[in-house]
Amino acid sequence: MNHTKTDIPSTINWNEIRSQFPVLNQEVNGKRLVYLDNGASSQMPQIVVDRINAYHSHEHANVHRGIHSLSQHATDAFESTREKVQKLINARYLEEVIYTTGTTDSINLVASSYGRTYFKEGDEILVTEMEHHANIVPWQIIGEQTGAKLKVIPMDENGELIMEKFYELLSAKTKFVSVIHVSNALGTINPVKEIIDAAHDRNIPVLVDGAQAVPHSTVDVQELDADFYAFSAHKMCGPTGFGILYGKKELLDAMPPYRGGGDMIDKVTFEKTTWNDLPHKFEAGTPPIAAGVGLGTAIDYLNSIGMDNIAGREAELITYATGKLSKIDGLRIVGTAHKKASVISFLLDGVHPTDAGTILDKEGIAVRTGHHCAQPVMDHFNIPGTLRASISFYNNEDDIDRLVEGIEYTKEFFE
Ligand code: PMP
Repeated sequence: MNHTKTDIPSTINWNEIRSQFPVLNQEVNGKRLVYLDNGASSQMPQIVVDRINAYHSHEHANVHRGIHSLSQHATDAFESTREKVQKLINARYLEEVIYTTGTTDSINLVASSYGRTYFKEGDEILVTEMEHHANIVPWQIIGEQTGAKLKVIPMDENGELIMEKFYELLSAKTKFVSVIHVSNALGTINPVKEIIDAAHDRNIPVLVDGAQAVPHSTVDVQELDADFYAFSAHKMCGPTGFGILYGKKELLDAMPPYRGGGDMIDKVTFEKTTWNDLPHKFEAGTPPIAAGVGLGTAIDYLNSIGMDNIAGREAELITYATGKLSKIDGLRIVGTAHKKASVISFLLDGVHPTDAGTILDKEGIAVRTGHHCAQPVMDHFNIPGTLRASISFYNNEDDIDRLVEGIEYTKEFFE
């Protein structure tokens, strides 16, 4: 993942791109909306909204089952997204792309299926201190059932992983490594390639939580050599309720189904049931079809801008925002890693993050406050939570200036 500035072609009109997002064109509390909560959920461009609407209006039928034309058309539309995802992340085989309902679901799938099959008493699962709860709790649940234990790679005061500790923690007991690619709480870009290579030297599989990476840069699962890679549609200009688990075919083949029901079977009798082939083995029941179709259009849209251009534009905005915020008296940035993407967490002296967030909201500025589903990160810094501005390529310098004004106003308000 490369988040350095690239040469962005001057032909890209970022104002025009911004205008394609209808949600942004509104006032909130009487002020033009400044949306800086993209880490929680990004917005959908009109083309994605229209595609989902068209699907519901003219194309809806259940997938994979019907012989009738509408069902076949819906299946084609839904399945075409799989090919787009395969290309986007450069998966070797189409069947390595499993549809889920999001990153959380993807990680639960691996923890439940792989973990329950292969973990035993005394085994260790390595995660980092900056994981989202979605990459902690599923492993704890499986740990309680299997006797496997979590081990935590610590981070330093900048919010960077202490890699020597990672190498110390890797041992014969380590059965799995599951790490966040980009921290949603701190913005840190982790050295996942190095982690994967070191784990593979010991034949340990690695899952990467890419929820905050795929929307912001080019991710190549073959180059990373990730065994599993998880992400969500709603953080990449797509709809909620849909996500992806990439998994290496040989691993997925060796894993039992996670949920049973329709679609995931080959033959069912009361005595014995056999499973469908990949990817359907892991896709029980009627999926969120419209959301899947919507993700396909979102990927086309992102590709039309270019992931490297998106990464470059966001790097510009993060640099601009970091420069401006650093100059504010009494503002402390939490998470000062050398390699950061898309997220700036901060605190204001003497003001609780929730109170500051409430004042900013009155100014029409949407930021997130709290622990960002990463309570261990807050414990590390001994703070209750942070304010978090998370940017997308459709934000602009004016949004950042409005945030800065809002923060100055918040400070005055509490003085
Ligand atoms: N991991 C990370 C890094 C995230 O940022 C998020 C969403 N905040 C998740 C996992 C969970 O994603 P979802 O809620 O879409 O399953």
